[in-house]
Formats: sequence, C-alpha cells, structure tokens
Amino acid sequence: MPAPLFNRLALIGVGLIGSSIARAARAQGAVREIVASARSAATRRRVAELGLADQVVETNSATVAGADLVIVCAPVGACGAIAKEIAPQLTPGAIVSDVGSVKAAIVRDMSPHIPAGVHFVPAHPVAGTEHSGPDAGFAELFVGRWCILTPPNGADASAVERLAAFWRALGAKVESMPPEHHDLVLAITSHLPHLIAYTIVGTADEFAEVTRSEVLKFSAGGFRDFTRIAASDPTMWRDVFLANKDAVLEMLGTFNEDLSQLTRAIRRGDGEALFTHFARTRAIRRGIVEIGQDSPAPDFGRVHPDLPVESLPRPYAASDE
Ligand code: NAP
Repeated sequence: MPAPLFNRLALIGVGLIGSSIARAARAQGAVREIVASARSAATRRRVAELGLADQVVETNSATVAGADLVIVCAPVGACGAIAKEIAPQLTPGAIVSDVGSVKAAIVRDMSPHIPAGVHFVPAHPVAGTEHSGPDAGFAELFVGRWCILTPPNGADASAVERLAAFWRALGAKVESMPPEHHDLVLAITSHLPHLIAYTIVGTADEFAEVTRSEVLKFSAGGFRDFTRIAASDPTMWRDVFLANKDAVLEMLGTFNEDLSQLTRAIRRGDGEALFTHFARTRAIRRGIVEIGQDSPAPDFGRVHPDLPVESLPRPYAASDE
C-alpha cells in the first residue's frame, strides 16, 4: 500500500458522507489517523461504537488540533459557524475542505474565517444516497463518481493537488471549476430534480386523501423512484435551496417554460411535439449510460430484493429444468 497522503484527518460531521470518507480513507490507507466529532453525543457515541475514527472528541475545535487535513461534513448552513469555531486551532499549512452540495455560499461563509497560511479548498463529492447518519456510509460510495473542487483564485496549487490525490485515492474522479459554475450545473442536475420529486410526492399525497391505497399500490409506475429521491435528508435539502437560491430560481424559470410547452402540446393533442421531446430525452439517457454514469440494466421493472424467488411467476423464476 502506498504511504498515507495525510497524517491526521479531522472529520467534523460523521453522517452519510463523513462516515463514507472515514471508511474509504481507512480502506485505502489514505491517512494515518482519523479524529472525528459530530454535533450530538448520540452520533459521537455511534461513531465510536462503529470504530470509524481513532479518536472521537466532543468539540469541533478539539478535532482539528494537529490535523493536516480537515473536512467539514455538516449541512451547508452550519459550515460558516464551524469555520469560525475551528479557526484558532487550525495548524499552519493544513488544508481545510468541505463536502457541501452548494459551493458559492460555502466560500462566502467559510473563507473569511480561514487564517493566513491555511489552505482552503472547497469540494463536493457528487455521490450520495437518501440515507443519513454514520450507519448509512460505505467505503465504495465515491468509486467512479466525480468530486468537484472549487479552489479560490490564487489557491496553492500543491494543496489543491494533494486534496485531489486524496479524493482519487477514495476512487473518485476529480475536476475543478469556479463555485458559481458548480452551483449552476448542480442546480439542473441535482437540485431541480430533488425539488420536482419533493413536489410530486407532496402532490400525490394530497391526491391520496381520496385514493391513498391506489397511489401506494401502483407506485412502481414511476412514482416509486420519486419517493426515493424525496426521502432525502430534510435539513440538508433545506440548506441547499436556501444557499443556491439564484441558480435554482434561474433553472426553475426555464423548467416552467418547458413544462408550459408540454402542457400546451397535451392540451392541443400535439403528438408530434410530445414524441419529438420524448425522443430527445431518451437520447440523453443513452448518453449518460455511454459515459458510465449509470447502468443500462432496466430499473423501472426491477425485482424487489426481498421478494422470495419462489413467489415470482413462472417465466421469471430460476429454472430448475
Ligand atoms: P448527515 O448524514 O445528516 O450527517 C450530517 C453530520 O453533520 C452529522 O454527523 C451531524 O451530527 C453533523 N453536524 C451537523 N451540524 C453540526 C455542527 N454544527 N457541528 C458538527 N457536526 C455537525 O448528512 P450528509 O448526507 O452526510 O451531508 C453532509 C454534507 O454533505 C452536506 O453539506 C451535504 O450537502 C453534503 N452532501 C450530501 C450528499 C448526500 O447525498 N447526502 C451528497 C454530497 C454531498 P448529528 O448527527 O449529531 O446531528
């Protein structure tokens, strides 16, 4: 195994992302030692029980003492106060980073507190699930996924490269871009889809007052996939929409125009407009599969993993002939 890239990794926040970093950094030998803290005593206790860190400490500032890499893995809205709290304890030459899903607000809130001589390199691993907490993480979460770095102008190139090497060691592919550009791209690829899922599941729930059992019963017709996205952490997503307001509103404006066009096509019975639109979106899906961002395996009709195979109708059950 190659030599560790960092001596001491300080993790502030050990939920889905923080615990996945801890597990992956351990598995890859990317750091010599991990020190962690979380807001509540219950989470800190669980982190210790799971053995995710060499030391679990009570305060954020105690976590960063002596660390050469600090990664803040808390909700976006908490990161400014955390930066202020840890600033006096940061070691000169250390790298401070984060994993927030929004970047311009992170730069605005954290960078004023980072002392001279400490390198601030924000990051966003574009990988996750709808689960939260230290039990939800796993070492393979970042494998084959992108991690976007948004180093400020004039950032120390070797610090940026060291952080990139850390993420590559965890299996991620790394790209750098300005924070505002990141926020625009993620507004359409992640934030708007989540908003749509939150909306549609809420709408179906109102509708379900009349036909609740049917909505749940026939959920495999597309609704089920929205419910998975809409089960994502409420605190995290509240912060994302508060912090990426401008980019989300811009994308939402375009989305509403496109929705109006499809609404008009349905109202007018314009099958050609509908077909052309759906053919274009099917080609986009093919492109995503071609660049390896998803599997070509059919997903809408997937077999429930907990269903016993014997209960499947004959053509789908494993043949014993
Ligand atoms: P999570 O599972 O809910 O974990 C959040 C962690 O932050 C918990 O350990 C929580 O401690 C801790 N925390 C909250 N406020 C804190 C504070 N003031 N000081 C110290 N620790 C604090 O959330 P997550 O999904 O890992 O998300 C963390 C970050 O990753 C967010 O910024 C999110 O935008 C970003 N991200 C998430 C995903 C995703 O799919 N989930 C993907 C990419 C990036 P307690 O448990 O004690 O409250």
